Amino acid sequence: MAALCRCRHRWKRNNCLHVLTRNLTGKYDYDLVVIGGGSGGLACSKEAAQLGQKVAVLDYVEPTAKGTKWGLGGTCVNVGCIPKKLMHQAALLGTAVKDAQKYGWQISGPICHDWASMADAVQNHVRSLNWGHRVQLQDK
Ligand SMILES: Cc1cc2nc3c(=O)[nH]c(=O)nc-3n(C[C@H](O)[C@H](O)[C@H](O)COP(=O)(O)OP(=O)(O)OC[C@H]3O[C@@H](n4cnc5c(N)ncnc54)[C@H](O)[C@@H]3O)c2cc1C
Repeated sequence: MAALCRCRHRWKRNNCLHVLTRNLTGKYDYDLVVIGGGSGGLACSKEAAQLGQKVAVLDYVEPTAKGTKWGLGGTCVNVGCIPKKLMHQAALLGTAVKDAQKYGWQISGPICHDWASMADAVQNHVRSLNWGHRVQLQDK
């Protein structure tokens, strides 16, 4: 965890210096500028970088009425495919645990679900993907 924090700190510092240098020189020289860091934008920018192009990705997220935003990765990662599949899996597990008793599994006590724990786990997974995409863009 400490290594991850150090890595994040170093990445932020290097990135800030990079941006600062560009601002001071007034040079913005890219082969490709991608608008949107969702599935499409990430695939396009990573592929172009792989082919040796210098790429910038602009990802802006409009905050909701409550002021919530999301990280890099677009709809799929933050509010679409990924959280949906994780929550679907949570629902399937609930049904499976109930069915299991009919197949001889002995489960003591009532089966209950803690929504807050599930939401935390989903959010943590989404954040790890946000961070993973950030690192991949930086690396490429
Ligand atoms: C609930 C739900 C479940 C889904 N489940 C699945 C699934 O199981 N399988 C599947 O294949 N697909 C699924 N989808 C569809 C999938 O999420 C989309 O097809 C996919 O995210 C589209 O990718 P995209 O890159 O085109 O757009 P997005 O992922 O929406 O990315 C666009 C990004 O651009 C940013 N942006 C917008 N305007 C600007 C601007 N002017 N400047 C800078 N940035 C901007 C946005 O904030 C966003 O981050 C689901 C969608 C939803 C809503």
